[in-house]
Amino acid sequence: MSGMKSPRFVLTEGMTEDSAYIACPVCGDDYVHIHRVTVDQGSARSICESDFVQVRKIKQAGRGSLVRITFECESGHSWEYGLQFHKGKTTAWMKRRRTGSTKELWRD
Ligand SMILES: [Zn+2]
Repeated sequence: MSGMKSPRFVLTEGMTEDSAYIACPVCGDDYVHIHRVTVDQGSARSICESDFVQVRKIKQAGRGSLVRITFECESGHSWEYGLQFHKGKTTAWMKRRRTGSTKELWRD
């Protein structure tokens, strides 16, 4: 597929044949923690962060629904994956974030 930008989504081999670990796009470490999941749909924003879930009213700014997942590796790099769904197509993107801005999701 010529003309495509190189993907910035990094995966390493998972524990099973049909799974993979998400790895840090900066250092490649696959010890990665989910810090926040945000879904914007219409004028509602659902946020899962730390040990709570919250829904806020927002001004509808984007086109279609937007899912964002914030990660941080154990070396402190932070980034966000976004999935924008509009008119039957889904755009995926990644951007770096400031480290330590959120607490990770609950885990056992
Ligand atoms: Zn890293």
